[in-house]
Amino acid sequence: MLNAFEPRVVLQEVPGEVSLAWLVTGCPLACPGCHSRDSWDPRAGSALTAARLDDWLARYQGLLTCVLFFGGEWQREALLALLRQVRRQGLKTCLYTGRERIPDVLLAELDYLKTGPWRAALGGLDSPHSNQRLVRLSDGESLNPLFWRKP
Ligand code: SF4
Repeated sequence: MLNAFEPRVVLQEVPGEVSLAWLVTGCPLACPGCHSRDSWDPRAGSALTAARLDDWLARYQGLLTCVLFFGGEWQREALLALLRQVRRQGLKTCLYTGRERIPDVLLAELDYLKTGPWRAALGGLDSPHSNQRLVRLSDGESLNPLFWRKP
């Protein structure tokens, strides 16, 4: 079972989508400079059950187009079940992971994927030099340029 903090609705993390974003706790990667150290403890937050997810999807029914998970791939079966639950409701799915690759079985349930650990010297998605990539999986398009500030 995965734990997560309370979700929030976000507009920028997945361009063109209105996403319900869950910060899943228990990330094992321990990137230096991580902005979410309070999420490293897998006991932080509360259980992300199917009922809890359904409850939040019902609250924002008609508004959401996507559900975004910040992490959770370290418990593959638990995350898979949640992704499938989201798709059964006709919504898109996105995973932000600090890993470079994830198993194909997870890829098959995702519409968007952000990969790569946090590297302070390279910056996040808003940096043209970032090691991180946000990809629309339907056509392999990198969405990174959408995060770059216009001069
Ligand atoms: S992957 Fe993200 S949450 Fe995990 S340690 Fe790295 S920056 Fe923090």
